[in-house]
Amino acid sequence: MSDSQKYVYSFGGGKADGKADMKTLLGGKGANLAEMSVIGIPVPPGFTITTEVCAQYYDGGRKLPDAVKPQVQAAISQMEALVGAKLGDPSNPLLVSVRSGAALSMPGMMNTILNLGLNDTVVEGMGKKTGNLRFAYDGYRRLIDMFGSTAMGVEHELFEHELDSLKKAKGVKNDTDLTADDLKTLVAKYKEVYKAQTGSDFPQDPTEQLWAAIMAVFNSWMGKKAVEYRRIERISGLKGTAVNVQAMVFGNMGPNSGTGVAFTRDPNTGADEFYGDYLINAQGEDVVAGIRTPEPIAQLEKDMPKVYEELLGIRKKLETHYKEMQDIEFTVQDGKLYMLQTRSGKRTGSAAVRIAVEMVQEGLIDQKTALQRVNPESLNHLLLPQLDPSAKSQPVAQGIAASPGAASGKVILSAEEAVAHHEAHPNDKILLVRKETSPEDVAGMHLAEGILTSTGGKASHAAVVARGWGKPCVVGCEGVRIDEKTGTIRVGEHTVKAGDFLTINGTTGDVMLGQVPTVPPSISGHFATLMEWADKTRTLKVRTNADAPKDAAKAREFGAEGIGLCRTEHMFFGDQRITAMRKMILANDEAGRQAALAELEPFQKEDFVGIFEAMDGLPVTIRLLDPPLHEFLPHDEKGQNEVAGQLGVDVQRVKDRVEQLHEFNPMLGFRGCRLPIVYPEIGDMQVRAIIEAAIEVKKKGKSVLPEIMIPLVGTVEELTLLKNRAIQVIEEVTKAAGTQVDYLIGTMIEVPRAALTADKIAEEAQFFSFGTNDLTQMTFGFSRDDIKGFMPTYLREKILPVDPFQTLDANGVGQLVEIGVTKGRKARKEKTGESLKVGICGEHGGDPESVMFCHAVGLDYVSCSPFRVPIARLAAAQAVLAEGKSISRDR
Ligand code: PEP
Ligand code: MG
Repeated sequence: MSDSQKYVYSFGGGKADGKADMKTLLGGKGANLAEMSVIGIPVPPGFTITTEVCAQYYDGGRKLPDAVKPQVQAAISQMEALVGAKLGDPSNPLLVSVRSGAALSMPGMMNTILNLGLNDTVVEGMGKKTGNLRFAYDGYRRLIDMFGSTAMGVEHELFEHELDSLKKAKGVKNDTDLTADDLKTLVAKYKEVYKAQTGSDFPQDPTEQLWAAIMAVFNSWMGKKAVEYRRIERISGLKGTAVNVQAMVFGNMGPNSGTGVAFTRDPNTGADEFYGDYLINAQGEDVVAGIRTPEPIAQLEKDMPKVYEELLGIRKKLETHYKEMQDIEFTVQDGKLYMLQTRSGKRTGSAAVRIAVEMVQEGLIDQKTALQRVNPESLNHLLLPQLDPSAKSQPVAQGIAASPGAASGKVILSAEEAVAHHEAHPNDKILLVRKETSPEDVAGMHLAEGILTSTGGKASHAAVVARGWGKPCVVGCEGVRIDEKTGTIRVGEHTVKAGDFLTINGTTGDVMLGQVPTVPPSISGHFATLMEWADKTRTLKVRTNADAPKDAAKAREFGAEGIGLCRTEHMFFGDQRITAMRKMILANDEAGRQAALAELEPFQKEDFVGIFEAMDGLPVTIRLLDPPLHEFLPHDEKGQNEVAGQLGVDVQRVKDRVEQLHEFNPMLGFRGCRLPIVYPEIGDMQVRAIIEAAIEVKKKGKSVLPEIMIPLVGTVEELTLLKNRAIQVIEEVTKAAGTQVDYLIGTMIEVPRAALTADKIAEEAQFFSFGTNDLTQMTFGFSRDDIKGFMPTYLREKILPVDPFQTLDANGVGQLVEIGVTKGRKARKEKTGESLKVGICGEHGGDPESVMFCHAVGLDYVSCSPFRVPIARLAAAQAVLAEGKSISRDR
């Protein structure tokens, strides 16, 4: 890089070097400060050091490029001229803030230092200039605390301890009750802490302070919190953070000052209502940290009517300009309003949907933009269970509804304990209960079903993070008192121990004892409208994986256009069914198996009837039995004794059969199409049940479209044999019934060899369905059930970008899919003149990124679990809109 490169971008005074679309270089905060300056919104002047500098800082072994210093000095002079004050000048001091700001927002994950420029003489000058010595010393003690803890690694608690001791000694409750002299004493104490911890005096030179603060922000990019957050949020590919240095304005100059954070619409519900909090006589971090419970923004109309009116004007101006819901920070200094930040606001999935739809209705954006605005994964939030309205549970406390949905879990009182508990009991549901949360807590918060805090407002750390993740959250619940020493909490009148169950309702703010039952959600209102737009846009069909009529009906309600995978083995687990199944497995000969299968057949048929009825008019793909037979027998002594008793056979017979069926690699063993090849009667029974059920439902006037699917095929010969056998059975059944029924016979593509020889296989198959669970397993050679020992390390070490069982590995497994589709379609067309129907039914069918891939390779449909159907519908629409360009989504 040449030294003439521009590393520093100034803003303020109605002008700026940068603009909103320069987020990659200036970070979100820097780009938007520049944009706000240009569109005439009051912004204190300052400058942004680019993310490129951060990248070069790390590339150069934590050394800044030489040209940064002179550019920063020039920018300081420009800022000084605009404000009319000078850094370090006791007679007319300029104070600045130093903040991080990456291209994607990472709330609270990196460092911020305020009030920079104060020292022993400037603090007195500041007192004189403002006529408020108390305020000057309050700023100074905050600077020493923030500078000490963020730039020098001093424990923040050591400063807090001094503050608490002083308040105790003075017999006061609030920080605001301390006088100027008290704060002067506190500054002296803070300086002692600083010296004891760092071995040197608090730096008096403002330029030295500034450079240390800038370095602290760059260093925080690689801090543990920030790295962890990026991992959880799957943020990668950023250059680094920018650093924003900005003239300070003060919300703590007295009762005519204040500071707040707000959203231009309700980030929880999406309602077009101004939403936020503020505190009179406070600095920014007081609102976010959840230390004092702030006032709702509507109250500002009474406290400062003129400021409120101006703020409403800015709210409107920002939304019209950005055409997007904004998250803003403001400060009122002695009656004058300043904007410190605007960015597109994090929101729940429900809010994202409502805002996108209403903005179309308001003419701000078009339908395509609306579809691209909603992260498909965030729809999970609308698909969360809600509390069962008929459950008679009384709230025992109420807080602020911060992120909707209901969550029950075992009470855990710290984020570290949540992590430890999860490691020991991965299936336990956790409810994290804290006074407040901080960025250190993100790992534990991520594992929790829901979060409950006793302090903090709508914009507190807990609320913002939970909302971003779509986790139910209640904050500011004053009825909850936590006693960490005894590991208990008081909730209203009740005592709850760590480990007991508690339920929160993030939609209403209610807290209830125990586990309250929930009900599934439905699609209506704005959600239904967005889904309609998605359906108009997408070309990929969306089916569901379901093997019970109830699930099939739910999926249909969610928009499924058929069943892409009915796993028949799940139908063998009911009481009488499992007994008949075991009888079949234990039978000594074909006659014995036939007898047991005859017992199973009516159950199979009944299940298929239920499914065909639920899916009237839509295709239903039914897969023949897939798992190895030993999965149906108990492997423990007690279970084996029970089975022997039930079937009236010797227990040794059961043991011997289990032993006989034992496999070293069951996933590569005697399963899939290999079963009916060896035991044709199993396949015959299933095919007969399918066709008989189809005929029965057809006779009731419904439309049935069965698709018989043969699993785990690796050679065309396997398929030919089973297909011919199936056709023979179908002919027998239809002849006996004296009626015909339409059907297809196809195969799963789950074995790499099947993909590679898809041309041969397609000559015999009417459809392909990619079973990407097995295909991933066999392509990587990773047992899908045994990845937990190494996958976390693979992800941490970036050997793999994501778990390939969650998001399809486009480069490897994806190649096989592409080969399969291309070869298969071509050969089928050439051989039969027919087109080959192609879909996917592995878990990837419900993963938005994988759905994009499926669209790109031209599949006809994806199939996923019922609750992911709406997610896949939206992802499929986004895939169309993203053709030829990358899509931008709010994370
Ligand atoms: C697959 O392998 O992708 C698949 C859908 O089948 P199963 O998960 O039942 O093995
Ligand atoms: Mg499979």
